[in-house]
Amino acid sequence: MQSIRKRLSIIIIACSIFAIILCALFVNLAVNNTFNKYMSDIQKQRNNRIVQYFEQIYKKDKGWQQTSGEELMHEAYMGNYCLTLLDENKHAIWGMNPSTIKQNMSNMMMKSQNSGVYISNTFPIKNNGKIVGYITIGQYSSVILSKQDIDFKLEINKNIVISVIVTALAAIVISIIISKQFSAPIKSVSDISVELSNGNYSANSNIKSNIVELSNLTESINTLGAKLKKEDELRRRLVSDISHEIRTPLNVLQNNLEAMIDGIFPVDENRLNYLNNEVIRFGKLLDNLSTLNDFEDEKVKLNMKVISLDEIILSVCSEFYIELKSKNIDFMLDVEKNEEFKVMGDYNKLKEVFINIISNAIKFTDINGKIWVSLYKDKGKILAKIKDNGIGIKEEDLPNIFERLYRGDKSRHKVEGNGIGLTIVKRILLLHSANISVSSEEGKGAEFILSFKEVGK
Ligand code: ADP
Repeated sequence: MQSIRKRLSIIIIACSIFAIILCALFVNLAVNNTFNKYMSDIQKQRNNRIVQYFEQIYKKDKGWQQTSGEELMHEAYMGNYCLTLLDENKHAIWGMNPSTIKQNMSNMMMKSQNSGVYISNTFPIKNNGKIVGYITIGQYSSVILSKQDIDFKLEINKNIVISVIVTALAAIVISIIISKQFSAPIKSVSDISVELSNGNYSANSNIKSNIVELSNLTESINTLGAKLKKEDELRRRLVSDISHEIRTPLNVLQNNLEAMIDGIFPVDENRLNYLNNEVIRFGKLLDNLSTLNDFEDEKVKLNMKVISLDEIILSVCSEFYIELKSKNIDFMLDVEKNEEFKVMGDYNKLKEVFINIISNAIKFTDINGKIWVSLYKDKGKILAKIKDNGIGIKEEDLPNIFERLYRGDKSRHKVEGNGIGLTIVKRILLLHSANISVSSEEGKGAEFILSFKEVGK
């Protein structure tokens, strides 16, 4: 197996080199074609010039002589082409020997373009529109290139090769940098996922990327790690909380029963009542745990119908009348007038929600404290606010209070409870597509806001 960085580099380098070579081949082909076309145009011009020259000679000499135009022979020899002058009956007047050209070309080290095939073209020479003779121009290549021409072509090709090498080197360097940019976050996420799967939930990636998907990937793995870490902590806490919750009443029962058996405590009604209360508390804890379990296993069936939240709140508040009185709590209920608060829900379950939250407010509010309950509408939602000026919740406890068996440290020692109420509240609200939010300042009170979707909206 290869690392992503190696594989990416190889792919980018291979693609770049392939593209560069292809590009170089096209450039080379285009340059050669253009150059050959240019040379063949020059050759055509040369042929025209030669024909015109012989036409003038004919005109001047008023016919052909044995030496007509022989002075061109030297130029032809130097230009590596062969001339043969023919009269109108195609009988040779004079002509050059192609083998001398071949010899000359090999002397000039132009073997490369000497294909060995002798090509000749015959052009008519005219005087007053009448053909008076022919000139044959022959050469050992379709296009004759001089040494300079060949050097020029070689120079261009050399430059193309140098550009290919330089560009390929640049592509290699760039591909290594780019592949690092891509692979670093992926590698880091992969390393972290290995760490997470090994149970090291503290691992997180600090690699930044300006590529949206890669940045999302690193952020998500970090969030996942943080969540797993929190879950792990809560799980550990849950186990220790459950054993603590169970051990406490059992210890009380055991100690008291042993003391009674040993005759240290008398077996009277008071003591039996006390022990019975502990057993009841213990039973409640188990009941709550089993209710929570039902919610988590999604065993709970809801009896959904249209219900009025104001009705539920009024009924719950009246049930707490005695408790409120005994703590002398100033209780204010404010239901928005001339409004209906109809929601689709299970009456008993929603009642349980308000019982839990209002009972918490009473539990965590000192004697002579205040509790405000209000029901109103805002932005198409029905909102229920339960606020108290009790002990409040520590900032670090706020994100956890809806977790199973989570209890703020203060409440653990001072107030009775088992940290399941709000977990059940949250589950019930979830089944009703409703939300709950909490805000609090330690020592100043807490405020819970429940938001429901109004029926028909
Ligand atoms: P319990 O009340 O049985 O401990 P809950 O799940 O109902 O369990 O509440 C979890 C924790 O949230 C409580 O232990 C307490 O720390 C905190 N809490 C809930 N409501 C309030 C409130 N009104 N004021 C202060 N703390 C609260």
